[in-house]
Amino acid sequence: MIAGGGLAGAQTAVSLRERGWDGAITLVGAEPHRPYDRPPLSKDVLLGKAEGADLGVDFEALGVELLLGRAATGVRPGAMTLDTDAGPLRYDHLVLATGAEPVTLPGTEDVPGVHTLRTLDDARRLKPVLDAGGSVVAVGAGWIGAEVATAARAAGCRITVAEAAHHPLAGALPAEVTAPMRRWYEEAGAELRTGAAVIAVHDGEVELADGTVLGADAVLVGIGSRPATGWLAGSGIELAPDGSVAADAGLRTGAPGVYAVGDCASYPAARYGGRRLLVHHWDNALTGPLTAASGITGGDAVHDPVPYFWSEQFGRYVAHAGLHGPGDVLVWRGDPDGPSWSALWLGGDGELRAVLTVDRPRDLAQGRRLLGSGARLDPERAADPSVPLKAAAR
Ligand SMILES: Cc1cc2nc3c(=O)[nH]c(=O)nc-3n(C[C@H](O)[C@H](O)[C@H](O)COP(=O)(O)OP(=O)(O)OC[C@H]3O[C@@H](n4cnc5c(N)ncnc54)[C@H](O)[C@@H]3O)c2cc1C
Repeated sequence: MIAGGGLAGAQTAVSLRERGWDGAITLVGAEPHRPYDRPPLSKDVLLGKAEGADLGVDFEALGVELLLGRAATGVRPGAMTLDTDAGPLRYDHLVLATGAEPVTLPGTEDVPGVHTLRTLDDARRLKPVLDAGGSVVAVGAGWIGAEVATAARAAGCRITVAEAAHHPLAGALPAEVTAPMRRWYEEAGAELRTGAAVIAVHDGEVELADGTVLGADAVLVGIGSRPATGWLAGSGIELAPDGSVAADAGLRTGAPGVYAVGDCASYPAARYGGRRLLVHHWDNALTGPLTAASGITGGDAVHDPVPYFWSEQFGRYVAHAGLHGPGDVLVWRGDPDGPSWSALWLGGDGELRAVLTVDRPRDLAQGRRLLGSGARLDPERAADPSVPLKAAAR
C-alpha cells in the first residue's frame, strides 16, 4: 500500500515491480490526476511548453491499482490499516509518500489573487494569470520565486520579487555566491527587493515592513514547503521536529512494515555523520523508493545519496550537489560575471563538500561523482575552469 501519488509514490510502485514484487500494489493519491512530475510545473507548464507533466508510467501494465482523488486520513499500525476518506484499507507493507505542501503567508490563504505553486491545478490556475500580462509580486526569492519570475517575464508581466532575507536563495546559498544572481533578475527586467518582508496582502496590494505598498494583480507565495504529515497525528508514527516522518537509514519508520520516502521523510545520512536530513528535491524522491522497495522485498539497502537539485531560471541551468558548512572554503571556478561558472566548497583537507554549477554540465556530472567518492581536490587546479574538474582530484 502506498499513500501519496507523486514521484516518490509512483517510483515506489515501479521499484517494487522491478525488484520482482508480485503482490498487490495499491496507490492512494489525494489529487485527481495520475502521478505527474512537479519540476515541469514552474518551467514548461508556466512557460506554455507543456500542458501537464504525466510521469508516463503504465500502472495498468504493472498491475498497480490507482485510487485517485482519495486522501489518507490516518494509520492504525496495530491493525495494519490505512484510513482514507473513502474507508479503511488493510496493508502488509505501507509506504508513506505524501510529499510536502507549500508554506503559506498567514492571513493570505483566502485572499483572492494569492497563489502557491505545488500542484498541476496550481500551475493551471497561475498560467492564465501570467498570460494576462499584469503586475505580479512573488513573495520569496527562492528557487520557485526565481522560476516564476522567469515565466512571468516571458509572459510580459511586470514582476517584483520581495525577499525578507538580504539576498536571494538565502536558505540554500551564502550571500557572496548569490551576488551574480541579482544581475540575472535585473537583466531579465524583474525587480528583486531583498530585506523586504511582506506583512500583509489585500485588495491587489502587497504591503512591506518598511511601509512600501506594491500593486499586484496576482501574488505568488513561494516561501518554502513543509512535510504533508498532519494526517499522521495520533498514529504513533514518529515525526521529527520539522514535521517529517523520522525514518531510519533503510527508510523504515518505527511502525512494523511502514516506510517513508520523498519530501515527507527525513533520514540519518551516513555520509554526513548520521545527521538527519529532510531533502525536498526530485532526486531524493526518485532514489528513496529504491531503498524502501529493497526493504519490502527482503533487502537491506540504505538511503545515502549526495543531495542534488537543479533549477532553470533566467535562461540558465543552475544545479547544486552536496552540502556545505560554515568552515568550508569557497573556490570560484570561472568568472561569476560571465555566462557560465561554478562554485566549489572544499573542507580543510581539500575534500569536495559541495558544488554549484551555472551552465557547466560537465562540472555538475564530474562534481557529483567526486562528491560520491569523497574526493580531495587541488584548490588551484579546481579553480581553473579549463582543467576538467575530475583532473583536479588529488
Ligand atoms: C513547482 C515545483 C518545481 C520543482 N522543481 C524542482 C527542480 O527543478 N529540481 C528538483 O530537484 N526538485 C524540484 N521540485 C521538488 C520536487 O518536485 C519534489 O522534491 C518531489 O515532487 C517530491 O516528490 P514526493 O512524491 O515526495 O512528493 P509530492 O510530489 O509532493 O507528491 C506527494 C503526493 O501525495 C499527495 N498527498 C498528500 N497528502 C496526502 C494524503 N493524506 N493522502 C493521499 N495523498 C496525499 C499529494 O497530493 C501529492 O500528489 C519542485 C517542486 C515544485 C512544487
